[in-house]
Amino acid sequence: MEVRILFNSAGIEENLSTGWGVSFLIGDSVLFDTGEKGESLLNNTKEMKVDLSLIRDVVISHDHWDHTGGLGDILHGRQDINVYACPGFSDEFKAKVRSGHNRLFESDGFVEVVKGIYLTGEIIGEYKGGDISEQAVVVDSDKGLTVITGCAHPGIVKILDLVRNKFPDRPFYSVFGGFHLMDKHSRNIHSIINVFKELGIKKAGPTHCSGTESENVFKKEYGDSFLTAKAGETIYI
Ligand SMILES: [Zn+2]
Ligand SMILES: [Zn+2]
Repeated sequence: MEVRILFNSAGIEENLSTGWGVSFLIGDSVLFDTGEKGESLLNNTKEMKVDLSLIRDVVISHDHWDHTGGLGDILHGRQDINVYACPGFSDEFKAKVRSGHNRLFESDGFVEVVKGIYLTGEIIGEYKGGDISEQAVVVDSDKGLTVITGCAHPGIVKILDLVRNKFPDRPFYSVFGGFHLMDKHSRNIHSIINVFKELGIKKAGPTHCSGTESENVFKKEYGDSFLTAKAGETIYI
């Protein structure tokens, strides 16, 4: 299975747009998050020769602009896309999806979107003093479990615990995406890396809102198994 990084703050080529937010294409048909704006996402899918007509499922991690920005452009002119959201997303977000011809699904628990690709469903986290709903993607491949996160506002460890409980017999392979550790001290980052090691996670790629400090600490711990997840890269899982 392949995951192509469609958008992030750094890219592997000059022609690729970069900015705040993330977007991942899992296989050919599952898009996870859409970055900060449609223009950038469409530029990158063109540069990377991604066939957008093959996309059938669009999963949005959480209702923040840097993850939903390109959604309108992806849905435009389409009638056959399933959009996966959480019940706690804003009414505005839901109304926008419903105003088109595509379908909106909301889940508060694990769902299998296509064979081997699951969503955690809604996990409640805290953001700026209020609640935030977020979901992560879990891919179960020959290599084991891969968890892909948007911002991980509910906490990367909380998300991994849920995945461990859901798939107790499957080994972990990789975890990448936003880990939201910008405000964490290196002591906290080390304790999170210990959890990663205890879970047997072989490859790790903190990016986006993970913070430079955590990226550096993970890079040091993981060495060649650190994933940079730059726009234009393909991660094999
Ligand atoms: Zn974000
Ligand atoms: Zn966010």
